[in-house]
Amino acid sequence: MNLTWQTQLASAFTDFQTLCDYLKLSLNDLNLSPDAAQSFPLRVPLAFASRIEKSNPHDPLLRQVLPIGEELNQYAGFSDDPVGDLNAVKQIGVLHKYHGRVLLINTGACAVHCRYCFRRNFPYADLQLSKQQENDVIQTLQNDSSIQEVILSGGDPLILSDARLARLFDGLEKITTLKRIRIHTRLPIVLPDRVTNELLETFKNNPKKIIVVVHCNHANEIDDDVAQACQRLKSANMTLLNQAVLLRGVNDNATVLCDLSERLFDVGVLPYYLHFLDKATGTGHFQVSENEALKLLTAVQNRLSGYLVPKLVIERAGELSKQYL
Ligand SMILES: *Cc1c(COP(=O)(O)O)cnc(C)c1O
Ligand code: SF4
Repeated sequence: MNLTWQTQLASAFTDFQTLCDYLKLSLNDLNLSPDAAQSFPLRVPLAFASRIEKSNPHDPLLRQVLPIGEELNQYAGFSDDPVGDLNAVKQIGVLHKYHGRVLLINTGACAVHCRYCFRRNFPYADLQLSKQQENDVIQTLQNDSSIQEVILSGGDPLILSDARLARLFDGLEKITTLKRIRIHTRLPIVLPDRVTNELLETFKNNPKKIIVVVHCNHANEIDDDVAQACQRLKSANMTLLNQAVLLRGVNDNATVLCDLSERLFDVGVLPYYLHFLDKATGTGHFQVSENEALKLLTAVQNRLSGYLVPKLVIERAGELSKQYL
């Protein structure tokens, strides 16, 4: 593919028919829901769609992106703000829950819309940082020596332009007490061409330690282009970690989880977290029980080297860290 990542992003699949035609599926094979897509639209870049098996309505990658009728079901305990993010907003665009690190919401946009996302109902438009607010945050952090790590999140921070990111990194560089910049992003997985030379330059030129936490739930998400993108990040001295979400019908299987860890390590990424699903409205059909989750983790532990076993964690509103199940 020689198209720029921006062009690929702009031409992502956003309607059922075009996606189904591409995947050789009939609309009737899938329990599609226009109502589900209304509140959180279908969005999937070709680079990701190309890894979905053709003519397979149960493909684990397809399930992550397809708006289906089950999203409209009500499940007990599910809500719009399951992890108490609104309570943790210190100022616009800044979430501070845990000691020593703050999370910045630099954008609400993502390259792909993951149906299980805990932020799918989050009021991004009201909370993401403008340029001016970004400057203000940097000013605040300069005066707060308790913060050693800034986490760029969103949305997906790598959806910002190289120029905007370069400016943000310049600002972060000036915070003397800051040691690390962590980037939570799904873009190297869903749109690997995003890892441009300009981006790598921005990372390389910054004196802080940079950690890129990608988000990949299934080994099939890693093709040669993704492998190359990860290699490029590695060669720019990034620490590469992965977070996944435990999802019914996607990766709720010990073999699938083991394959994911192996494949990640092959491309230079260490498994970090396996998140227990956050109970966000519209995601109940992805839920795996706590019992089942623990059994899966034990099965994975019994098969893999310790460093390939992700930490199975759950986020409970009000706690001082993510919690082990
Ligand atoms: C998950 C999260 C972090 C990062 O937690 P780690 O355990 O350090 O990965 C930081 N801030 C917020 C608000 C979070 O939700
Ligand atoms: S890329 Fe991350 S933030 Fe964006 S929809 Fe997917 S899970 Fe949510």
